[in-house]
Amino acid sequence: MNSSDNNYDIVISGAGSIGLISALLLAQHNLNIALIDPKPLDAITKVDDTRNIALMQSSLNLLKHLGIFDEFYKLSRPLEKLHIVDATDRLLRAPEVEFTAQELGIDYFALNVPMGAILKTLAAQLPKYKNITCLFGTQITAIKHQAATLDLTLADDTDIGSKLLIGADGRNSFARQSAGIQTTTKKYPQVALGFAFKHSRDLGNKSVEFHRKNGPFTLIPMQNIKGGSQTSLVWSETAEKADQIKNLPKDELAELIEKITQGIVGKVTEIGYIAAFPLTNINCETYAKTRTILVGEAAHILPPIGAQGMNLGFQDAAIAAELVIDAYNMNADIGSDDIMQKYNQQRKLDIHARGKATDMLNVSLMSNLLPMQMARGLGLFALQKSANLRTNIMKKALSPLGVTPKSML
Ligand SMILES: Cc1cc2nc3c(=O)[nH]c(=O)nc-3n(C[C@H](O)[C@H](O)[C@H](O)COP(=O)(O)OP(=O)(O)OC[C@H]3O[C@@H](n4cnc5c(N)ncnc54)[C@H](O)[C@@H]3O)c2cc1C
Repeated sequence: MNSSDNNYDIVISGAGSIGLISALLLAQHNLNIALIDPKPLDAITKVDDTRNIALMQSSLNLLKHLGIFDEFYKLSRPLEKLHIVDATDRLLRAPEVEFTAQELGIDYFALNVPMGAILKTLAAQLPKYKNITCLFGTQITAIKHQAATLDLTLADDTDIGSKLLIGADGRNSFARQSAGIQTTTKKYPQVALGFAFKHSRDLGNKSVEFHRKNGPFTLIPMQNIKGGSQTSLVWSETAEKADQIKNLPKDELAELIEKITQGIVGKVTEIGYIAAFPLTNINCETYAKTRTILVGEAAHILPPIGAQGMNLGFQDAAIAAELVIDAYNMNADIGSDDIMQKYNQQRKLDIHARGKATDMLNVSLMSNLLPMQMARGLGLFALQKSANLRTNIMKKALSPLGVTPKSML
């Protein structure tokens, strides 16, 4: 373990969900890790938004691998069914389609976990690992790429060294910029609103997605707390409409939700803090370069359709950890060009395919072109008719494409 004089084996920049999971995976081995975030710990784990995240089976396997699945299970609600309703009001409307976990021979597709609970539960593990040094309330301000190391300067002028930098520092990643990794950005004319509310009629363990002309309106049932049912909503609208919705008086907003949901949630009350996320699709020319591996939103940002983002981030973290640990066990350089190439190779297919799929679904909903609407309608019609097709599509949505790391099997 390399721990002397501010020298680390690995520096992880960013302690959001993906930085935290990366640190916990790598800390299982004798590696010396620094975890850096500009926020202090209480700010890292305190999130205003009340949305839930659907963690798929492979991500849940990773939590089992870390021995923390039970902690998540008790905070979550299983998702057994996914129901899609075409609410576009267009001439050609698609039939309703329902996917069930039972058709796949599993108990549930995913667990819905509150975002705040994910961060708190992961961060609570940190004190167990003596080989993780938390440098919170500071950030990297300069990176010099040397042949065998990285020289990093922090905001308080401390210098630290590392063989590898894991960039988990989110959408405006400094690690990505410092490695000179270019991005392509597609901006959509929509904003996703994410928030939770209580209601009088329980949805069961079923997520309902209303496909509306400005994007999906997705209800994700949360664990029932004392005082009734609650649901997390991800609602895509044009930027202008989203702004109006956010500023509506709460009783008017409750009525609007009751109307859109066609009565299935009953009476809506206690609407939580509404977080707004402009919809973008950001991808990188490469996911690893010059001793820097990008994970989570530093590597990719997708529209919040089909619960893909954090699940992709878990896969990034698991593959990066597997490559690094294998190299470490063989006494090889953990930041070598060979590792960079392998990581890039193993992540490319999965990230590209999911970016493309969410893009196509979003574009097909927004499109006024008849052929596009027909294609979407026919697709849903075929899904409604064929159990085989539904099972195949769901299997693809639930498991990583390409290489699946052992920790996610
Ligand atoms: C409405 C909505 C619903 C979603 N639902 C789902 C879902 O159901 N399932 C799913 O899989 N995904 C979902 N996602 C995506 C998911 O929320 C993200 O993929 C995930 O939160 C990204 O985590 P991250 O750790 O990569 O980034 P972040 O959470 O942004 O964390 C980045 C961290 O880096 C820190 N940081 C910033 N700058 C620096 C710096 N210079 N140096 C060091 N650290 C820095 C920040 O303080 C932060 O702690 C959803 C997203 C939205 C918007």
